[in-house]
Order: sequence, then structure tokens, then C-alpha cells
Amino acid sequence: MKQQINISTEWFNVAKDPLIIIDNKGKIVEVNQAWTDLCAEYDLVKDWCSIGADYFKLIRQTGGQREIQAILNVINKEILTYEKKQTLPSTNGELVPFSVNVIPLNSESSVANYALLSHQPIPVHSIEAITAESVLESMTEGFFLTDDQFNLIYLNDVAERMLCCKRAEVIGRNVWDSFPDAKTIKPLYEAYERAAIEKVEAEIETFYEPLASWFRLKAYPLANNGLAIYIQDVGERKKAEITLTQYAYFDDLTGLPNRRSLIKEGASLKGQDKFFSLYFINLDNLKLINTLHDYSTGNQILKMAADKLRELAGAQHKVGRRDGDNFVFIRCFADKSTPSQFAEKILALFDRPFDLDNFKSIKVSASVGIAHFPEDAETLEILVANAETAMFEAKKVKGSSYAVFNAEMNNRRNRKLVIEEGLTKKLSDSGFYFTLQPQIDGMTGELTGAEVLSRWNHPTLGELSPLEFIEVAEQSGTIIALTQHLLTEVFTKMKEWESRYGRSIKTAINMTPSLLCCSVFVDTFIQLMEQYGIQPEWIEIEITEQAEITYSDKTLANLMRCKEYGISIAIDDFGTGFSMISYLTQFPVNKIKIDKCFIQKIGEDQKSEALLQSLIHLVKSIGCELLAEGVERQEEVRFLKNNGCTIFQGYLFDKPLKAEDFEAKFLRGNYKYPIGE
Ligand code: C2E
Ligand code: CA
Ligand code: CA
Repeated sequence: MKQQINISTEWFNVAKDPLIIIDNKGKIVEVNQAWTDLCAEYDLVKDWCSIGADYFKLIRQTGGQREIQAILNVINKEILTYEKKQTLPSTNGELVPFSVNVIPLNSESSVANYALLSHQPIPVHSIEAITAESVLESMTEGFFLTDDQFNLIYLNDVAERMLCCKRAEVIGRNVWDSFPDAKTIKPLYEAYERAAIEKVEAEIETFYEPLASWFRLKAYPLANNGLAIYIQDVGERKKAEITLTQYAYFDDLTGLPNRRSLIKEGASLKGQDKFFSLYFINLDNLKLINTLHDYSTGNQILKMAADKLRELAGAQHKVGRRDGDNFVFIRCFADKSTPSQFAEKILALFDRPFDLDNFKSIKVSASVGIAHFPEDAETLEILVANAETAMFEAKKVKGSSYAVFNAEMNNRRNRKLVIEEGLTKKLSDSGFYFTLQPQIDGMTGELTGAEVLSRWNHPTLGELSPLEFIEVAEQSGTIIALTQHLLTEVFTKMKEWESRYGRSIKTAINMTPSLLCCSVFVDTFIQLMEQYGIQPEWIEIEITEQAEITYSDKTLANLMRCKEYGISIAIDDFGTGFSMISYLTQFPVNKIKIDKCFIQKIGEDQKSEALLQSLIHLVKSIGCELLAEGVERQEEVRFLKNNGCTIFQGYLFDKPLKAEDFEAKFLRGNYKYPIGE
């Protein structure tokens, strides 16, 4: 055989490279000493490595049909040489990796062709590490190699630093033993297993608690069934990403999920065909608090409300800030309580006043609207809109309250939207006008002044009450424009009458607290008076006294400015709240208008009459002018006069009159009311 192959036995035997010769059937026909030594060193399965063994069978065991074809191509001199990696089994079942170089070997005389195969063992940490070590060490990524048992074979410098370990201590040890916390990260463990068993690349990103950072790990399966793993510390990028998500999905003031994430949440519940209830929560007086105090007060209240709602939501329900002073609470799991009982739980959060940092304590009430999915709406947008509609319904009740959505509410909501839209349009020629209600001296029957009461003959809705559109204007932020428009109309009329009749009427104008808080508005107000040449003594401002309204220092300063300018100040609806009483001592109020609810009780019961008497007494004691509102009956006039209140306003005398009727009666006609007794 040797002769046939025609190679020098001497050379073959002394060659340092482990060599075998196979024929074109794959049969091993010759082996050298180096090969025999190598087989012993690696304890390779002898049957296959000695002369007469079937080398192709060996390759087939590791699935290498292609390799066989390549070797045959070399033998048939179709290719000159072929290099491959080949694992050979050892007696203990391990596969030892070799780099195999195949060259053709044939005797010129012989028809039989052969191949000379040189086998070089590849220790993983030599080839992949030795030749690449310098590269690996200079990598910016961490890198490590494991064998098929997850024992660490190699770990580069970056990985050493990244994982805060000492190479000497971890090499040779099992990865999971060295980094036990990593094993508890299920996705990481599973990714490694998958990469090793299925021989696929795997990539995961995970937070690693002991190093308090995020890492991206890529695992590549190796020929020796081990893994090559690249690690990147992506903590910084992740932080940036989380901040972005935070911005995208969370409200930065309260930390609650924002509108976008609520949409996501709702869509997910909807997708799971779940029944749920949506509670639309509005903080009633936040806008007012912002105007009367400052934004930081408002912000503090929002945060506190958010905390209370978050606590109620727990892990079961979801709560988010929709916008401004609106929160959305999604009740995902119905407990024993009914929707109404659950609404009561929400409202109970607002029972106690909010204690702020600066020792201020502010009472905040909330209005809650409830809508159910899928009963009340097919889509999430409609569900939220319907819950909001119910919330507006709840708002009509003073203080905290809730309302459950019903279809009728939507008509009212649409009406509100129509009003809101009308307020944003050009106000002249849009149906706005004002009426004047006479104020009478009950002793003489003469006119002492008039209150301006707005009206709106809406193009599609018809005559609207100011109670309806003033509230919408206040909520939608159009109140300033509306009031300025009204002022120009009123001043124009006053000027016209003054020049035509040579007399002026003391005119009272209603102002909301938000207007008086706004210095720019107050500037405009005074400028308009100057522009129209209206003497301040003919103007009175009416400000309401309501239980929930407290006036900020800014509002008081603006009122003081008006007062100093010469405008008189009247307190409207007196008796319906108590806050004003404390201000009465701070600056001189000119007039107090006793609310009609007290007047209506005259003759009804003694207790109410006694209360009214003490109110009159209080006002007289601080030296204010006094007016009784809503006077409808002679009996009321009698009682009031007997108790020292002599100025009246009410239907008994006149309803609010259109400007032309007022003009005809008082300016052209100089009307005097008949006084009984
Ligand atoms: P208010 O300032 O308390 O005005 C008195 C309200 O009582 C007016 O209702 C008036 O028509 C009504 N009234 C007068 N006499 C009697 C009576 O004898 N019996 C009864 N039951 N009611 C009487 P109106 O005109 O509907 O105005 C309602 C409220 O709307 C006003 O209450 C005022 O707060 C507000 N308002 C009206 N016009 C304006 C305005 O131009 N600006 C602002 N900010 N508010 C306005
Ligand atoms: Ca008034
Ligand atoms: Ca009033």
C-alpha cells in the first residue's frame, strides 16, 4: 500500500504534524506517529482513528456529507486543497475540535487516489482567543466564552470591569455560580439555554440588580457547544429611553400615567373583551385656586389628589391624569361595591381639606362622571367623552358629587359645546345684549341705580340665561373677551344717554373672581372707562360671595385699585358664604346685596327672619349700604323697611329691562315707583 501511495515512509513517520491518509472510500490507509500520539493525548475513539477505520463514517456522525464531498473533490483533484473544522469523539463522549487540512496524494502510476489529512487540535481558548485575544482585549464590548457546561473559559478586560469580577477568580468556574443573580433573570437564563441547545444566536436586554444597570447580551453558539457572549452596558441609553418613555407615557407633575398611556390601557382592556367602568374625575375649583393663589398651590393640590387616587387604585385599578384638572380612573375589577358606592369612595378622598406646605388648608371638591364599557360606548374615545359628560352633570351640584352617564346627557353636552363655540366667535352681532334691572329707594320710590344683566339670543339655541353661558365662558377662558365686549356696549349706551338726557345712572356690573384676579383685565377696564369718558362714581362692581371662593392678595389688590380709582364695590349674594365677612374689615365695601334666598323666607318662619335681622344688623354695624335682592312681595318690603333695609331690587318693581325699555321708563319718562303706606 505504501508503495502504491508513493510517499516516503521516513518523512511521513517523522513528520511533527499528526497525519492520516485515506482512500477514495474514506478508509484510513496510513497513520503516522504524531497522529497516534495525538489520539492517545485526546483519548480519541480508537476504532475510528486507526488503520482500516472508515473516516467518512466518522464524519457522517457529525453530519458532514458536504465535507465528504469536499474531500472527494480533493482526492479527484477537482480542488487543490480543503480546510475544515472537524470534531472527533473521545472515549468519554466529548467532541474534540480539530482543524483539518486536506491535500491530494496520488501515485502517478496508480489509478487509486488518496488524500493526506493533517489534524491540528483547536483548544477553544487558543484559536479563538489566542489569535483574537488582542482584538478581544481592545474591544469596547465585554466578551466571554463558555464551554458547553457554562464554565467560563475566557473573559476579556472590559467584561472583567463591567461585571466587577477578577478573571483569575471566575475563569474555570460555572457562570451561574459566579453570577448567581444572573441565573434568577429567567429571560437571560433561557436565552443562554436556547443558544447552547438550539445553536441559535440569542440577544436580550436586562437589568442586572447587583450592578444596578442595564446590559445587552448577545450569545453566539460555538462549535464546541459553548457560547461566545458579548456584553454591552446600555445603562445610559436605557436611562435616556426610560426618561423618554416617562415623558411619553407619564405625566411629569404627578407621575401618573398620562392621556396616551390611558388610551393604551383602555385599548388593552377593550382588546381583552373586559367589562370596565371609567370614572372621569374633575377637581372643581382648581382653576379658581390657580387664579386666586398661584400655580404652585394648584400643582401641590394636583399632586396630592394624584397620590390619593393612586392609593385607591392600588394594583387592581388604573388611574391617570388626562389633562389639567382631569383624572381618569379605570376600575378594572368590580369588587362588591356598586359603581355608585365606588364613586363615593373616590369622593371620600376629597372630604378633608388639603393641607399644603405653607400651612394653608384648601378645600377641594371633585365631580365624578361614570360610564361603563361596553354598555355606554363602543369605542374608548366615546366612553371617555360620555364619562366627561356625566362629570359635567355632576358639576351642577355644589360641592363633591357624581353622576352616572345616560344618553340624555349628551344632548346637554352638545348644547354646551355649541355655546362654547359661539363664545369664540366675533361677539358683536352674535346676539349678545344686556338688560338693566332697576334698583329702587324704598323710601322715595326713585331709581338709585341699575344692575347690568347679560343676555344672549343665540342664533340656534334661542334666549340663553347668563347662568348658563357665563359658566361656560369661565370654563373655556372666554370670560375676559365677553366682559370687555359687554363693557363697551354698556359704556356706549351710558355715554349716549348722558349726552341725550344730561344724566347718568349708577350702573352695577357683575365680575367673576377670575376677572378681578387678572391685572391686565383691570387695566383694560379702567382704560375703557377713560376712553368712553365714564366717571368712576357711576360704576359699581359686583363681586359674589360664595362659600368656596376665597380672594387672593392679588384680587384684593386689584379691587383696592378700582376702589381708589373711584369705582364702588358691592358684595353680591351676601349670606350665601362666609368668606367675605373677613374681608369686610380689610377694605371698605360700599354696598352689600342680601341674597334673594333670605328675602324669600320673609313671612315663612321666625328663624329665617331672625337670621335676616342679624345679617342686616351686621352690615349696618360696619357702615355699608344695604340692598335686598329678589324682592317679589309687598310683605318683604315692609319687613325690610322695618329692619332698616331700604334699597330694593326685584320683580316686584321690575324685571331686568331691555335698554330701550329702561330708557323709555327712566330717562325719557323719569318714572317713580308708588310707595305703599
Ligand atoms: P345676580 O348677580 O344675582 O343677578 C340677579 C339675578 O336675579 C338675575 O338673574 C335677575 O334676573 C334675578 N332676579 C332679579 N329680581 C328677581 C326676583 O325678584 N326674583 C327672582 N327669582 N329673581 C330675580 P339673571 O339675569 O338670570 O342672572 C343670573 C346671574 O348671572 C346673575 O346673578 C349674575 O351672577 C350672572 N350674570 C348676569 N349677567 C352677568 C354678566 O354680565 N357678567 C357676569 N360675570 N355675571 C353675570
Ligand atoms: Ca349681581
Ligand atoms: Ca345676586
